[in-house]
Amino acid sequence: MKFIETRGNDGKKSKEVAFSEAILSPMASFGGLYSPKSLPDFGEEFLKAHLNSSYKELAKDVLKAFEIDIEDELIDEALARYDEFDDPDNPVPVVKVKDDLYISELYHGPTRAFKDMALQPFGVILSKLAQKRGENYLIMAATSGDTGPATLETFKNRPNIKVCCLYPDGGTSDVQRLQMVTEDAPNLKVIGVKGNFDDTQEALKSLLASDEFNKTLSERGIKLSAANSVNFGRIIFQTVYHIHSYLALAREGAIEIGDKIYLIVPSGNFGNALGAYYVKKAGVPIEKILIASNSNNILTEFIEEGRYDLRDRELIKTKSPAMDILKSSNVERVLFDKFGAQRTKEMMESLNKNGYYELTQDELKEIQSDFAAVYSDDEEAMGEIVKFLKDGYLMDPHTATCIKAYREKREKMLPTVAYSTAEWTKFSPSIAEALGLEAKNDKMALNLISSQFNAKIPDKIASLFTKKAIHVKIVEKHDIMQEMIDFL
Ligand SMILES: *Cc1c(COP(=O)(O)O)cnc(C)c1O
Repeated sequence: MKFIETRGNDGKKSKEVAFSEAILSPMASFGGLYSPKSLPDFGEEFLKAHLNSSYKELAKDVLKAFEIDIEDELIDEALARYDEFDDPDNPVPVVKVKDDLYISELYHGPTRAFKDMALQPFGVILSKLAQKRGENYLIMAATSGDTGPATLETFKNRPNIKVCCLYPDGGTSDVQRLQMVTEDAPNLKVIGVKGNFDDTQEALKSLLASDEFNKTLSERGIKLSAANSVNFGRIIFQTVYHIHSYLALAREGAIEIGDKIYLIVPSGNFGNALGAYYVKKAGVPIEKILIASNSNNILTEFIEEGRYDLRDRELIKTKSPAMDILKSSNVERVLFDKFGAQRTKEMMESLNKNGYYELTQDELKEIQSDFAAVYSDDEEAMGEIVKFLKDGYLMDPHTATCIKAYREKREKMLPTVAYSTAEWTKFSPSIAEALGLEAKNDKMALNLISSQFNAKIPDKIASLFTKKAIHVKIVEKHDIMQEMIDFL
């Protein structure tokens, strides 16, 4: 299957590329993204055939259905990363928490957040492709807290790849920061940036556009790639667990194959939601994808009212920092899929130039045939954590934003799967506060919650507090380039 560009072709790049090319060089013409030219069929026949498949078997068949130019052995090697999850036979538990509400726990990987679902196997594939071509790549990631640790973890000591993660100083939890600054490998670099996540993303963009930086790279024979969800290599692995959710409900007897369900996705850059969108379009019976946001409710406004409007908006720091995003990159792929390259380019240019774009009434109706959206502020989300904990289920603040969508946005009372995108251990101080527990720091919060509610702290988290910090620099935006050149 080939990949085409969301903003059309500039005459310099190939009009369509294979999967390997789209993931090694994910930057398409005019600042656009690569999107699949067509989609596989994951309808009833595919679902019935996979009712008894393991997660890895399902993943392999999903990847093969996309007809990607990756050999079977490499796919197997990539999917073997799921053996590092808590339960290799069931890396993604789907847990019934009440009535018709199920939670799909995407956080059982090494860095305790859903980024592992895609980044772990993706890292294997990217590094192997680079080795085969005899090329060297630099991956730069701006992270709001979870992408960084998962990217570092997957590429640690892998040949032909160097990684640099930029994170907003003060914009991540202690655990997230420690997960990054304690990663020790010669091919890894971590830099704290003064500013918020959008500032960090902007700083990265201008670095990548700088002539001096690109000259340095080409002098050293290094190519640029990306590991954020603009890379389709992430998205493809993020389609699998949505199909898995559906199959899990069918196995439980909650639905028959063919019945519809709701999915609720706590969203930031919209990669997770995009995976759900592709799967719905490919035939999995999904009534609607409900998009949950925090007070940075730009996606709610977009989906409910048809305006993507950055004007007069400031990024708000919330207790669900991985969703503190205003420019949500993967919305573009939905626009492209529905309205084509020309219209997408027009809207994205308007967003860059004027800070907003607006859908027509017909376009909005199209969007609303797949999505509905609602946001929860911190007080609402934290309130849900306390409520659910009374019934014995401990969730993190990102997951908690889903509950309002469950209560308010379902038009039909269908079985519903909400995604848990992080383990509580990554955000324990917020949870402790909501529970009225006094904790001075992350470590105390972890221990208090763990002992009061009999919740396990995985070794990977507990050991962070005694590890040595390797990357200690916090820099101003304009100093990033020098740091990078020194590292390279
Ligand atoms: C990345 C992340 C999200 C947002 O996912 P997107 O695919 O960017 O929409 C939500 N929750 C957590 C914990 C995350 O790490």
